[in-house]
Amino acid sequence: MKKERSKVRAINAAKMTVTMPLQGHKFDQAMIAAHEMQALSLDNLDPVSPSSLEPDVSSGATTTMATPVGSDSETASDTRPQDLLLELVSTPDRGLALFTTRKIKAGTLILAEQPLISLDKDEEDDPDAIEREFSRLPRSEQKAYLKLFDAQKSRMSRVVSIYYSNCYNCDGFKADGQGGSAIGGFASRINHSCVPNVQFCYNEGTNQLEFRAIRDIPRGKEVCSNYDKAAFETKAKRQRKQQIYYGFVCKCEACEPKNEFWAKSDERRKGMYEAVKVLQGCDKKFAEGDGPEVEVRQDAVVNGALGALARLEELLLKECHVGIPLANTYRSMAKWAEWKRDIKHAAKWKRKELEVCMIGFGPSARRVKEIEEKLAELEKVGGRGSSHYPVSPSSPS
Ligand SMILES: [Zn+2]
Repeated sequence: MKKERSKVRAINAAKMTVTMPLQGHKFDQAMIAAHEMQALSLDNLDPVSPSSLEPDVSSGATTTMATPVGSDSETASDTRPQDLLLELVSTPDRGLALFTTRKIKAGTLILAEQPLISLDKDEEDDPDAIEREFSRLPRSEQKAYLKLFDAQKSRMSRVVSIYYSNCYNCDGFKADGQGGSAIGGFASRINHSCVPNVQFCYNEGTNQLEFRAIRDIPRGKEVCSNYDKAAFETKAKRQRKQQIYYGFVCKCEACEPKNEFWAKSDERRKGMYEAVKVLQGCDKKFAEGDGPEVEVRQDAVVNGALGALARLEELLLKECHVGIPLANTYRSMAKWAEWKRDIKHAAKWKRKELEVCMIGFGPSARRVKEIEEKLAELEKVGGRGSSHYPVSPSSPS
């Protein structure tokens, strides 16, 4: 079957400047204890995978950095070869999808576009608000919008169902409590993988949906983000949820293993889940810590938590799951080390978190700034030391 192709001019990383601060992900705001990791679930408004898209190479979307070459808005001659990072490809089983046209380095901003519709937190659950914003779009954008995947959610109009089938959760990328969600023409073409190679982030300053490579991506590979934040569940559990919530079943390497390494994916995910359970136990024990010899007991709890987190880190790296779950693991390690007053290691894990967030969110992201501030604070505190544990592990930092 001949593939229909449309070049997408994506971003030359060297030319990109992201000037406004970003915030971390929805799940980044509180402490990263185990219960939080488990909360990396389907409850958020991350997008739903287009599983049966009709071929569509045109889009009137207000895409400023990723325009299909050959569309009305641009000709091929406008685009230099080095700018071509992605192409839109019609696939037999997943509709239109975005593929790399060359090798892409981790940290590269591969796509940035203005949303077709974005809604604040107080409006995102209101179907009338979605209809209203849709009616305000130019006709060409309405046409493009209506070609996006529709999971045909019950008791909703098509416009509303398409919104909830494709919107991205911007919570955590805006000032506290102002999350909301947004839908983009190209962003909606990025399919799901349980082993994602790109990370979504909303840039409040430019009002753009951004995607960065979180690991090196070879040429000719589909770019996929992770819709389902349940990183620690086995294939069967993930697929059951995908079917119910998104109307598709993932066929990524972890879901349809083609070699011995990926055949062991479930084993690794089980290990992650177990590590998270241990961590939850430590969290609970630490919170209960009181009375004589508390320091001794708390040391054991903290060491148990750090051991579980080290296991989680190892498994995430092995599984190539190197986005938010890994960043949150490092954040948690830093926190536990800090409770133990091991400032040296707290700073070490904070730096690791910074590294992961720089790659996934860019250097001016809000979470990156927050980590840098925390690092500076840890370095300042480093020399002083203290023998006191906070009252509870849930205490804010
Ligand atoms: Zn999968």
